[in-house]
Amino acid sequence: MRVHPILRLLAACTLLFSASAQAFGPHGHQTVGGIADQLLAGSPTAKSVRSLLGSNLQLAAVWADCAKGVGQVKAGAPLAYDGSGPYPECDYYENPASQAAMEAFVKRNAKSCYSNSSDESCRHKSYHYTDISPLREAYAPGLAGSSDHDIVHAVNACIRVLQGQDAPAPFNIRSKKEALRLLAHYLGDLHQPLHVVSAYLDPAGQPFDPDQPGLDPKRVAKASTKGGNLILDRSSKLHGLWDSIPGPLAVKLLAGEGASAARLLPATPGPLDGWAQSWASDTLQAGKPALSALSFKAQTPDGRWPASHGPSYSRERSELQRAQIIKAGARLAELLRALLP
Ligand SMILES: [Zn+2]
Repeated sequence: MRVHPILRLLAACTLLFSASAQAFGPHGHQTVGGIADQLLAGSPTAKSVRSLLGSNLQLAAVWADCAKGVGQVKAGAPLAYDGSGPYPECDYYENPASQAAMEAFVKRNAKSCYSNSSDESCRHKSYHYTDISPLREAYAPGLAGSSDHDIVHAVNACIRVLQGQDAPAPFNIRSKKEALRLLAHYLGDLHQPLHVVSAYLDPAGQPFDPDQPGLDPKRVAKASTKGGNLILDRSSKLHGLWDSIPGPLAVKLLAGEGASAARLLPATPGPLDGWAQSWASDTLQAGKPALSALSFKAQTPDGRWPASHGPSYSRERSELQRAQIIKAGARLAELLRALLP
């Protein structure tokens, strides 16, 4: 059945407004996927995407966050999808075959995932971010907060699978379909400033350089704000504020404004295997104002740093979110054109 484009858009809007408000997921991720769908519409790449995924990129873009609904009731218990899912948008994947696919991915990419599991043992969660200090000028492997299983390496692992090769360890990505679902999500996270740039602070709330030579890794860990998850803007986690995309912004971008702006962006230079790193460096630079506009107070006894900012911060935040979502949609389409011509 052909669905009128306006009806399809309305369905997308309903989907967006029904969300509980979280993340460059689902609003942000769906918008990134939707912009890429519009840029690729009618191309051979769009055909390959649909035949691999069985859906469009807009739907696929939340899959990697839905997979976070796979966990264990306690250490040693079996990994299973908990049935509720992180977002209402995960409804689409709440059927036996899709749940089995999410469970299989997590089993291959985690040691354990119960409530006290670190992101190191529930490893697939660490594929969504890197934590680079705003004191650095570019992303580079080996910097504090980077790892061989951070978002840059995760994007590169998906690229390898879509090129017909195996994913390098520690990634275990079994199929092109899985790689494409993950890529549709990770490209969004790679453009969420606080999934790339992370403040490091001392107990007094002063900047701390985590890349000084000879530092004890424990001191670095203590100074990490974990992508702003340990920074409080009044009672809200700073990370969550940057994850959350205003519904009206997502609707406008999906209604065509996003794809029009994305078409004006320059192509990424250089060989494809360097794109993820250069996009991370771009997000690091673009994302610095998200932290430099804040003043930090001393760390509280429960390990958080309260922050304050001027009155223009939330307007500047939505402007930067808009720009980053447009870049993410453009680059997802650019990457898929190169991988699935
Ligand atoms: Zn994510």
